[in-house]
Formats: sequence, structure tokens, C-alpha cells
Amino acid sequence: MAASKRLCASNANIPDYEYSDVNTKPFHIGSFREEWLKRLKLKDYSFQQEGDGDAFDANFAREMGVGAEIMAELKSVCSLDSLRCYPENQEPDADVVPPDSTLKTLQQRKEKQDYKATLKVTKNRHDLYADELERSTVSRNPEAVTDFIPEGEVILTLNVYYPATFEKFLYVRPHMTLLVTGSHRLTDLRDAICCVSDLQACGELSNNPDVAPDFISKDHFKSAFFFFEGVFYNDMRFPECQDISLTIIEWAKARNFPDYRQAKMEDTRFVDLTVKVGFPYLYCHQGDCEHLVIITDVRLAHKDDCLDKELYPLLIHKHRILTQKCAVCHIFIGRWFTTNDHFAPSDPCVFCDKCFRMLHYDAAGNKLGDFQAYPYVDRGAFN
Ligand SMILES: [Zn+2]
Ligand SMILES: [Zn+2]
Repeated sequence: MAASKRLCASNANIPDYEYSDVNTKPFHIGSFREEWLKRLKLKDYSFQQEGDGDAFDANFAREMGVGAEIMAELKSVCSLDSLRCYPENQEPDADVVPPDSTLKTLQQRKEKQDYKATLKVTKNRHDLYADELERSTVSRNPEAVTDFIPEGEVILTLNVYYPATFEKFLYVRPHMTLLVTGSHRLTDLRDAICCVSDLQACGELSNNPDVAPDFISKDHFKSAFFFFEGVFYNDMRFPECQDISLTIIEWAKARNFPDYRQAKMEDTRFVDLTVKVGFPYLYCHQGDCEHLVIITDVRLAHKDDCLDKELYPLLIHKHRILTQKCAVCHIFIGRWFTTNDHFAPSDPCVFCDKCFRMLHYDAAGNKLGDFQAYPYVDRGAFN
């Protein structure tokens, strides 16, 4: 322990706590990776199974100090084929536990199976989807060899939080948890963050609710930045993008704050970053939609990871939010909100498409009364 502390003190590339159990001091991710690779042997982080088949047996026999003959005998005695709770001529059914087994493991499994059968709750579609996502990515290898994550690559775990626009969002778990590799760019993360404020359609449409909005906010307002350790990483991929960090930088300069720098999101890979693990950073888009981003882990990839580079940034957790239902039917998710609306019980008020039209337009589609109506995308619509 003392030795490792000394090591950390002398090497800024190895993360050390700044606040115990909260966050580390800043370190450069690429250099941290190099430190690992310097110390580990290839076999420690290789994706190949160590000593497949014969090589493994020979190694095992040598370590146990037994000869080849005993090794062969051990293998046959301990093989799965000789482990059975059915008569030899009967084909075993892995799902059926024999009722009179003397094996403790089977007895416990039977108890668990019986208990499960008494439960009435079945998994909802969200849990099924989450399970399916996990099944399809764990230990997954890509089809094309070029899509393999290289051995010794770093994987970062990132939590992205809801913008703190409502007090209750201050207390929820991360909105999404994503894995990215060191060679991914910050723009890959940006594109993977699904936030409802990117999807809002703009405009007051009460006079012609059938006109589809021309664009959603993501098409129109493309500027965004990440803020890590004093550097604003701006998305400048499109001609419409602006450096929206400039206002903050100038504001800070006028008030003698330490200098902030700018860089391009699309030119920065995660291995290029200097960050603190566990420290809250910022993702800002649509002008003022601000999400905290916390890096919770930086590690080397191992063979049980999803090894298909194309599937990253890989979503491993998504928080579900209650949807806001229509104020009239309380069944369907809100699609419109109105203001200055004397038909509505509140101001603003959310309606589903059907109730909105029934309440605000006559059979010929003429607007009844004076109100403003805006298309509304619910936060929970993309659960
Ligand atoms: Zn947002
Ligand atoms: Zn309704």
C-alpha cells in the first residue's frame, strides 16, 4: 500500500484519489493505458483463451505435479459426462430437476424453481428489452475482423444524467450509462445521447395542426459542447455549428476566472482526454439543456466484453421515466400542449392527439376559441 502510494505520488499518469471514494485527481487516459500495458504481459489482457486444449492440460499437469496418465484419468473422472442424476440410458432434460435428488445444489435449484413458479409478476417489456440488449452484446464478436476492438484498448463507463430542470431529476439514477472505447471520438458519445430536447418540434400550430413541423430542434440547432477539465469541446462538424462556449469563456475572462480553452469535439478521442474519474462534467446542447456527465470507470477491455467496435457507444443502462398522460383521457401520452386555453384545466396543459382535436376543433376542422398549441414530445416517449 505504502509502495503504491509512493508510486502514485511520483507518477501523475496513475490515478489517485483527490477526495477519498469520490473522485480522482486528473490524469491522461492514454498515458494511464500505457502504464498498464508496460506492466502487464500480453496474456493478461489478450482476448485469446489461455492455452487452449492440450497446452492447458500440459500446463495444468505441470503445476499440479502429476503425470500425463493421471491427468487423463482425472479428466475422465471429472468430466461433465460422468456427472449425472439420470440413468445412463435416459436423455437428461436440463430444465427438470429430479424431485428426490440428494445433491444440495439440485435441492436448492428445485426450491428456487418452485418459488419462481408461484410468482405472478412477469417481466414488463422494458425489462425484457434490457435483458435482450444484454444477451446480444455480452462477449459478442464482430462479423468483420476489422471491427474487432484491439487488445489492450481502454473502455470507459460514462453516466449521463437528466438536465436538472425539474427538482425530481436531481435525485434519479443516471439517465443512461454508456461504454465507449478510448479510440471513440467525443462526437460518437454526443450522437449516442438521446435527449428529448433534441426532438422537440418548434412552432405555434393551433391554426393548422395538420401541418407537419418542418424540422425538429436537432436539425436546426446543432451546436453543443462537452466540458472536461477546463476545456470546452465544441461540436463543429456542420457549417451551422457555432462555438457556443465563447460566451462563457469571455464572461469568465472578464471576471478573472482561470483561463478556459476550446477544442473540437470531432477531433478529440477519449484517450486524448485528461479527466478525473467520479467528477461531474458537463454536456450542453440546444443552448441550455445541460446534462452532468460522470466517468465512473476506466479499464482495459477483456475477452468477455462486447468486442464489436461498431456497437459502441454501448448502452448498458437506461432510466425509465413516467410518461405524462393526456389531461383528458389519462390514457395516451401527451402530443400537444396548449396555453391561454379556456378548455383546459391547467395552463399549460398536455393533450393526446385525439382529445386535443376533439376538444379544440369542430367537425370541419375549424379552430374553436382562442388558444396557442405547440407540438410536445414526452420525455418518456422513448423509454
Ligand atoms: Zn438535453
Ligand atoms: Zn387523450
